[in-house]
Amino acid sequence: MNSAVYKALVDIVGEDYASDRAEELFTYSKDLGTAEPKWPDYVAVPKTVEELQKIVLLANEAKVAIVPMGGGMSLAGIALPLHGGIMIDMKRMDEIIEVNGTGRYAVVEAGTSQGKLFAYLKKHHPTLAHSMPDAPPAATIGGNMAIHGQGDLAHPHGFNSDMINGLEVILPTGEICRFGSCSMSPGWFTQHPLPDMAFFLGWGGATGIITKVSLRLFPCKKIREFDLLVVDNEELVPEILYEISHVGMSEDLTAFSQALPPMTDRLHHIGVNISGDTEEELEFKRRFIYDERLSSFFEQGTGGIVATSQDLEKPTVTKTSDWKKGGGFEYVGSVFPVSAYPELYRKGVEISARHDIPYTVVGRVIGAAHSMMFAWSYAFNRADPDSVRHANEALHETDDLVPGLGGTIWKPAVYGQQIVMKHMDANTLELMKKLKNMLDPNGIMNPGNWEVA
Ligand SMILES: Cc1cc2nc3c(=O)[nH]c(=O)nc-3n(C[C@H](O)[C@H](O)[C@H](O)COP(=O)(O)OP(=O)(O)OC[C@H]3O[C@@H](n4cnc5c(N)ncnc54)[C@H](O)[C@@H]3O)c2cc1C
Repeated sequence: MNSAVYKALVDIVGEDYASDRAEELFTYSKDLGTAEPKWPDYVAVPKTVEELQKIVLLANEAKVAIVPMGGGMSLAGIALPLHGGIMIDMKRMDEIIEVNGTGRYAVVEAGTSQGKLFAYLKKHHPTLAHSMPDAPPAATIGGNMAIHGQGDLAHPHGFNSDMINGLEVILPTGEICRFGSCSMSPGWFTQHPLPDMAFFLGWGGATGIITKVSLRLFPCKKIREFDLLVVDNEELVPEILYEISHVGMSEDLTAFSQALPPMTDRLHHIGVNISGDTEEELEFKRRFIYDERLSSFFEQGTGGIVATSQDLEKPTVTKTSDWKKGGGFEYVGSVFPVSAYPELYRKGVEISARHDIPYTVVGRVIGAAHSMMFAWSYAFNRADPDSVRHANEALHETDDLVPGLGGTIWKPAVYGQQIVMKHMDANTLELMKKLKNMLDPNGIMNPGNWEVA
């Protein structure tokens, strides 16, 4: 270990926020998924953009890797220091800088957690909401942007990374750049119509560290309702999603199927989130969705609504970690057309059975059914190496499957990244390589991830 680097980190962030001690490095060496531990050499927890910039400059000088980490909740081993180096924990950079209520946007530091922004808006701007992923609330806004996350406003508004009005980024060589209206005015109200130069979304921190995000906010209605429809034939699911998305009145539209509990096995649940400021508004939406678009399904007896309640907790993939004793789960996320649901579900059942894992699959409609984020989740017992191995094999088998079925892999682990790059057309891959090399000439930014060079 290079004690000069440690001393320099202490000079930058102070003794309390730099470490090279094993007990602290340990907590950064693992994530929640199946990935093998990877140890950083140092951890630094900067508070300001200036401190962060100094760390990036230091890393270039010392030729040490740097890995930004938000909540570390992305599961796929992508926030682990694959080549050691300095782990940069972004959580102290969590200021909510501005909320422009009438302009419906919030400017936050990238380490701001989803939970903090949610609580802040609820308290100070109860009529505004941002699109919350189902991830634990400690997940950060910057981390979610870096992997093209999606949240509970995906159906009307797309990926969370489609909802940005501007970014501030520290390049791997230390320069601070802004993208969007904020690059030329004090206002962070749009990312358009300037030339698109934001090579930072979807790169998982391999091209720079996002430091500030301007995030679009949307109306937050007073009453939220979660309705659950159930059908026993997967072939009906795309059509039902198409019909519901035709009226554009749902906020989040999901389809899922899971082996456990046994009463849900082989059934397809369609979760419809709707909201309104009054009961009349909700009733209006219900009428359009269920009476106007789905009445023929109900008349044919091919499905029905099982529950309509404000209080019903929205099921999330999180619960699947209970399927195996030991509480582990990891999923392969992918993006497909909605029409692929039946085949993706059947593959999930097959792969899970081969690896002795109760199957869980979930799809979230993105935009007006323009695509679907589809995830195959595999539970495992952390204390049982065979169980972890099975989950890992199931994950790889699923990654291998995605391109052949015509999809793309979402927030891929390194294994999945290699599959994506293998299938990418040669010119696009070459451009990716040029961009990465141009932005990160010393190869210090999250090396091992999106390794095109
Ligand atoms: C139970 C559960 C449910 C989930 N549900 C969802 C969901 O509904 N939608 C969804 O989108 N995701 C979901 N996820 C995945 C993931 O937790 C989220 O996407 C989360 O927002 C990632 O943020 P993070 O701060 O934890 O990122 P991290 O895991 O810390 O980082 C993710 C990647 O981005 C990089 N990175 C982190 N911060 C920065 C930065 N400031 N600048 C540049 N790069 C950075 C890291 O190096 C890493 O490669 C879920 C995860 C769990 C465990």
